[in-house]
Amino acid sequence: MKRRIILAGGGHAHLAVLADWAARPLDNTERWLVTSSRHTAYSGMLPGWLAGIYRANELLIDLKPLAERAGARLVIADAVRLDVAARTLSLSSGDEIGFDFLSLATGGETDISNLATLGDRLLPVRPVGTFMERWSTFMERTVLTNTVGIAVAGGGAAGVELALGAETAIRRFFRNARVSLVTPREGFLSGHAPRVRTRALEELAKRRIDVHFAQAAGTEGGLLLSNGHFLPADCVIAATGSRAPRWLARSGLARNEDGFVAVGADMRSTSHDFVFAAGDIIDRIDRNLERSGVHAVKAGPVLAANLRAAIEGTELRQYQPRSRTLYLLALGDKRAILSWGRIVAIGNWAWRIKDWIDRSFVGRYTDLARHG
Ligand SMILES: Cc1cc2nc3c(=O)[nH]c(=O)nc-3n(C[C@H](O)[C@H](O)[C@H](O)COP(=O)(O)OP(=O)(O)OC[C@H]3O[C@@H](n4cnc5c(N)ncnc54)[C@H](O)[C@@H]3O)c2cc1C
Repeated sequence: MKRRIILAGGGHAHLAVLADWAARPLDNTERWLVTSSRHTAYSGMLPGWLAGIYRANELLIDLKPLAERAGARLVIADAVRLDVAARTLSLSSGDEIGFDFLSLATGGETDISNLATLGDRLLPVRPVGTFMERWSTFMERTVLTNTVGIAVAGGGAAGVELALGAETAIRRFFRNARVSLVTPREGFLSGHAPRVRTRALEELAKRRIDVHFAQAAGTEGGLLLSNGHFLPADCVIAATGSRAPRWLARSGLARNEDGFVAVGADMRSTSHDFVFAAGDIIDRIDRNLERSGVHAVKAGPVLAANLRAAIEGTELRQYQPRSRTLYLLALGDKRAILSWGRIVAIGNWAWRIKDWIDRSFVGRYTDLARHG
């Protein structure tokens, strides 16, 4: 009897699993990929797209040919409910699929709870495909006006890069353009070295991006800040970090108090040994692991090996991240801030390293899809 494995989510963490299946067949299995859209966006290149450096097709990976190479059936739908006791996954299409093994990597949701009142002015950064469409529409609609105000809510790496990318984009078209970044002080590039924060603040100031250290609440015309200021905005980009997906709420799966799936170093659910998870959706019970593309990508090969091991009944591996991570923060003008441990440097050469890493990543999967 064939055993059915479902991958839920076609993003960073599952690409290595598809590559593994394409490289080595997994006997006696039926493989499915259930994901919201046919293309997955490599988020590290999104600020560069905003800045006009990349075309859309340079950061999008087509999952259809990749799934075909992996011998996986591709289903374009949202997973909307999981019942681990019954081993079923319900989809937005109304279908309910049974499984023997499940791997979850649907990423996080952008937390817009304080911003929803903004209505059409609000552009959550996830789902990335929708963000790209809405940003393009916004630019087309606004290009004939003289004045434009853009605010980015969220001061993590994504928020900072998007603010700088947006500034590059609108500088070309508008004489009176203003970009602001709103973030609680403790959330500004948290997890990065103090020197990275200092250099980033200098760059933001040079580009005349106003930084407001405050909490933001959405109103119909802009953002009301916790320091009492009102920030009018034609468009608010929400890069407010990942919140756990709500559709897992009544799944029966062990989750932490914020709703993230509890896994061990082997990426296996702590409550159900036939469920694995990786990427932004997880909480590692053995250590703190920040939610980043670096870890989603690097955990991918371990996840692939462990899905295979679970099916074949062999020993599982562990994903142990390196003690130091290389961070490259794009500045939206073909420069980047590089940091590795205590080393912090800035320049065009750092951008070229980032550009090479990012293009190689997307290229690896587009080549695999095309040529096997
Ligand atoms: C603008 C931006 C820039 C970033 N830059 C960097 C960077 O430079 N370096 C870095 O390390 N990290 C970066 N990150 C963070 C990084 O993108 C995430 O940590 C990473 O994408 C997480 O990978 P994942 O596999 O968990 O989810 P994702 O890559 O988000 O993939 C999720 C997949 O699941 C699908 N999906 C979602 N919901 C469902 C559902 N209910 N059912 C089925 N499918 C679903 C989606 O369509 C998508 O294909 C950035 C994030 C953003 C927003």
